[in-house]
Amino acid sequence: MDFDTPLAEAWIRAIAAAVEKEHARLTELDSAIGDGDHGSNLRRGFAAAVAALDGLHPDGPGAVLTRTGTTLISKVGGASGPLYGKAFRAIGAALPGPAAPAAVAEALSAGLDAVRLLGKAEPGDKTIVDAWTPAVAAFRAAAAGGADLPAAAAAAADAAEQGARDTTPLQARKGRASYLGERSTGHQDPGATSTALLFRTLADTTTP
Ligand code: ADP
Ligand code: MG
Repeated sequence: MDFDTPLAEAWIRAIAAAVEKEHARLTELDSAIGDGDHGSNLRRGFAAAVAALDGLHPDGPGAVLTRTGTTLISKVGGASGPLYGKAFRAIGAALPGPAAPAAVAEALSAGLDAVRLLGKAEPGDKTIVDAWTPAVAAFRAAAAGGADLPAAAAAAADAAEQGARDTTPLQARKGRASYLGERSTGHQDPGATSTALLFRTLADTTTP
């Protein structure tokens, strides 16, 4: 199974549905160490991303993801909008046509590079990067080992969820939570949590 245009569209619709279901939890996490808008930011962004698929005639999976990224950048005011927006644009640019798992791994890696280029966060700074980095490593390793798309995505989702949980004891060094200093410890990072949601949704979407 290749990652193709219908899968890309299904992924974006599934993210919107997952965010719709989980926005209160994301906002609660952001209330603890941020300003309590992460759930509503992503809800607004992905609802707009789904609306932007209407009337789009994508010539490949990348066109869907690029449009999603552009929409997130324009509709989400918080830090997560430009970060996820740039990530989806980079993933889209790397997937002009249907792609096998190894190529999807490289596209997701390009998404991580975009997040890091814009946000300048290192692993361990308690951000999106802490879930995305292990997810890419797991996806890549699974693909290199011959895993199909659902299996590689499931490995990535497991790793992202572990990465998100592992942010709990960390002190934030980037973003709003960093203003809290030591008081940012003891809470799971909202952005790492939503990144885990993106990868879990990819796994669910690709599983037949
Ligand atoms: P804001 O912080 O502007 O209110 P959100 O609440 O939507 O934006 O997103 C907060 C999340 O963004 C944080 O939990 C963190 O994971 C992520 N984040 C913030 N700054 C950075 C950064 N420089 N690099 C990567 N991720 C970041
Ligand atoms: Mg916030």
